Amino acid sequence: MPSLREVDELVSLGIEREVDRQRRELVLIASENFASRAVLEATGSVLTNKYAEGYPGRRYYAGCENFDYIEKLAINRAKELFSASEVNVQPHSGSQANMAAYFSMVPIGGKIMAMKLDHGGHLTHGSKVNFSGKFYKFCHYGVDPDTETLNYLEIAKMAKSFRPDLIVAGYTAYPREVDFKEFKHIADDVGAKLLVDMSHISGLIAGKVHQSPVEWADVITSTTHKTLRGPRGAMALTKTPFIKSYNSSVFPNIQGGPMGHVIAGKAVAFFEALQPGFSLYAQQIVKNSRILASELLENGFRIVSGGTDTHMILVDVRTLSMTGAEAENVLKSAGIVVNKNSIPFDPNPPVITSGIRIGTAAVTSRGFMESDMRYLSSLIIDALRYKTDVKSINKISNKVSEFARSFKLPGVDD
Ligand SMILES: *Cc1c(COP(=O)(O)O)cnc(C)c1O
Repeated sequence: MPSLREVDELVSLGIEREVDRQRRELVLIASENFASRAVLEATGSVLTNKYAEGYPGRRYYAGCENFDYIEKLAINRAKELFSASEVNVQPHSGSQANMAAYFSMVPIGGKIMAMKLDHGGHLTHGSKVNFSGKFYKFCHYGVDPDTETLNYLEIAKMAKSFRPDLIVAGYTAYPREVDFKEFKHIADDVGAKLLVDMSHISGLIAGKVHQSPVEWADVITSTTHKTLRGPRGAMALTKTPFIKSYNSSVFPNIQGGPMGHVIAGKAVAFFEALQPGFSLYAQQIVKNSRILASELLENGFRIVSGGTDTHMILVDVRTLSMTGAEAENVLKSAGIVVNKNSIPFDPNPPVITSGIRIGTAAVTSRGFMESDMRYLSSLIIDALRYKTDVKSINKISNKVSEFARSFKLPGVDD
């Protein structure tokens, strides 16, 4: 059978260029990572051909025996990895995993409490332009103005007056450890259910460098492609009473056929995360982000909340007389890929912002250790200082490219 290059030169070219970009740039987008070759192979497999509406043993199509075997493997490995009692591996994305969670626990028009978007919440946590904000009444908590961290007393107060049906803990731009037990107490006090959206930190939880929400949350959702290093997709862990309604919320309520090839990729990623090396990987992610944070602090940068406990750092770029959008552009022209991000109490709109979000999961997958992080820090600091000085930025760009190419691109070069 002819290969992609022979059949479709244009798509093939686009993919080849993307491989080259991923190899020569330094990817510091906090929500990105590099899946292994085994994950890529499973995700690129013939399972994409198969319809399997329903769940293992209860399908609406014939010929699902191998699909069942793979989905059960994925479920059992996720159970083992997170010590969870029930698992659903079918959500196509984190947004759909959250939609299914809301539909399974809160009637339309019901009340949900979650983090403000500009303090680190996700679009599905009640944005007006998202289904969540259209279907439910949201009340938003934020971080404390002084510490820029969660203030559990304030969140408890808000819960007492708002009386939500559901409280959401879990963020896209919060660099510190979250105390899930505190959230459970707050939820119990007002008779609310608790959803933990661990999308960003599920790899850190699997690697035991962040506390687990499994004992406390009623439902836990997660993407599988961030720190967990799996294929693009999502999953949910639930306590036993919630699995029936969660499953039916995913199928038939919001999805049709599950993606067997992606579920196979998830099963492989869970297997990899169960190996002893994964915990070392998770530890290295946090070590790397702490080194970057301390180098930036030593050089006079302001970091939201003063540091990090995770893979993520939020930098306030106002001290450099820049906006987040400008900082993103300067770094991108040097081959360093981060994203602009609102910081708490940001005076600038979300398309401009006053911050950048930096994550270390992807470079750690490429094998970055402490000394590499120090060099990377110096490149970031230089680029942000030289800003629009094209000659200097070009010099840095060459250094970045040479440095990045000295590391293998997982899934491609190994
Ligand atoms: C990434 C993320 C999501 C959404 O995931 P998609 O797969 O992009 O839909 C949801 N919640 C949080 C906290 C996230 O970080």
